[in-house]
Amino acid sequence: MQNKLKKKQNAGRFGEYGGQYIPETLMHEIEKLIKAYEHYKNDPVFKNELNDLLHKYANRPSLLYYAKRMTKDLGGAQIYFKREDLNHTGSHKINNVLGQILLAKKMNKTRVIAETGAGQHGVATATVAALMDMECEIFMGKIDTERQALNVYRMRLLGAKVHAVSTGTGTLKDAVNAAMQEWASRTEDTHYVIGSVMGPHPFPTMVRDFQACISAEMKEQIIKETGKLPDAVVACVGGGSNAIGAFYHFIGDENVRLIGCEAAGKGIDTTQHAATLECGTTGIFHGMKSVFLQNKDGQINEVYSISAGLDYPGIGPEHAELAATKRAEYVGITDDEAVAAFEYLAHEEGIIAAIESCHAVAYVKKLAPQMTKEQIIICNLSGRGDKDVAAIARYRGEKLYD
Ligand SMILES: *Cc1c(COP(=O)(O)O)cnc(C)c1O
Repeated sequence: MQNKLKKKQNAGRFGEYGGQYIPETLMHEIEKLIKAYEHYKNDPVFKNELNDLLHKYANRPSLLYYAKRMTKDLGGAQIYFKREDLNHTGSHKINNVLGQILLAKKMNKTRVIAETGAGQHGVATATVAALMDMECEIFMGKIDTERQALNVYRMRLLGAKVHAVSTGTGTLKDAVNAAMQEWASRTEDTHYVIGSVMGPHPFPTMVRDFQACISAEMKEQIIKETGKLPDAVVACVGGGSNAIGAFYHFIGDENVRLIGCEAAGKGIDTTQHAATLECGTTGIFHGMKSVFLQNKDGQINEVYSISAGLDYPGIGPEHAELAATKRAEYVGITDDEAVAAFEYLAHEEGIIAAIESCHAVAYVKKLAPQMTKEQIIICNLSGRGDKDVAAIARYRGEKLYD
C-alpha cells in the first residue's frame, strides 16, 4: 500500500517537479489517459496515422534553413532556423493537437475542450476538431476574447464554441482553471487538450513526446547538412512546449548548449514580465509542482509580455528540472529586444516570425558574435508573425486600419 502510494506520487516526476495535484474526481480519468497513452505511443497503427497527418496535413518535416545574410551580418556562428512557422495553422502547436485528438478518438471521446490565451492553441484545437469531426469548446479569458476578437471568430468559423471566462483576471490562468473544472464535471465523452508541457502527469511528458519531432528532425537535418551537431539550440519559452520539443533529442549531447528565452517584458526589475525561471519560486498550481511567479503566500502574480503566447506565470516541470540541474540555461528578453529582432529578421532574411519566436532570435543576435565561424546555432522559429504585424506597428506608434 505504502509502495503503491509512493509510486503514484512519483508518477511523471522530473526531479522534484511535476506529479499530479488534481481533484479526486479527475484521478480515474487521468489514469485512463495514462494507460491509453502508454499503449498507443508504441502502437504502430497509431504512429503511422499520426505521422501521416503530420506529413500530409501539417506539412512536416519542417525545413531547416541556413540564414546566410544574418550569419554574415553578425559575424560569428552559423545560424540555422527550424521553420515551425511553416506548419499548417502557423506554429508548432499543431504537432501536439494532432497527437492528443487522435489519442482522444482512440479513447472513443466525441468532444474536446481546451484553454487558450492569445487564441493560437484554441485555433489549432478547433482546426483538428473540425478535421476529426469532434465537438469542440474553447475556454478563453474574457479580456483575451476582446483583445483577440479575430481568433475568436476563426474558432467559430471552424465550428468551435468559445466560452469567455470572466473569473479572476479574465486571462489565461483563469481559462485553464475553467477548462480543468469543466473536464472534472464531464469526462465520459470529453478530452482536455492541454496546450503546453504543463498540468498534471501525463501531460508534460505526452505533450513533450508529441513536440519531440522538432529535435528529431533538427538532428537529422543538421547532420546531413553540416556533418555535425549544433553548438547551441535556442528557443522561446512560455509553458515550454516548443523549447522542450527543440531540446529533447539533444539533452544527452552534453556539448550542445540548450537555451530557453523567457519574456522579460518591460524588464525583470519591474512587475511587468513573465520571466518565470529567473524570478519565480517553487509551488503547486494547475495540477503540477513547478516554478511560478507568485507572492510569498502562493498567490499567482499577474504577468505581462508583448507576446501573448509567453504570457504564462509558470513553466513546465521538465524545464524547472533542466534549470535546476543546469543542463539548460534560461535568459530574459525584453519587449524592446524582441520587437527589434522581429524587424531585423524581416529585413535580413525576409521572414516575419511570431513575436514569441523573436525572443529567441533576439538572443541569437547577442550570442552569435561571441562564437566562432565554425560553430552552429539552431534557433527554433515556433510560429509565423502575421498575427503580430498590427501590434508591432502600434508599438512603433504607427496607425493602421486592421
Ligand atoms: C503558444 C506559442 C508559444 C509558447 O508556447 P510554448 O508551449 O512555450 O511553446 C511560442 N510560440 C508560438 C508561435 C506560440 O503560438
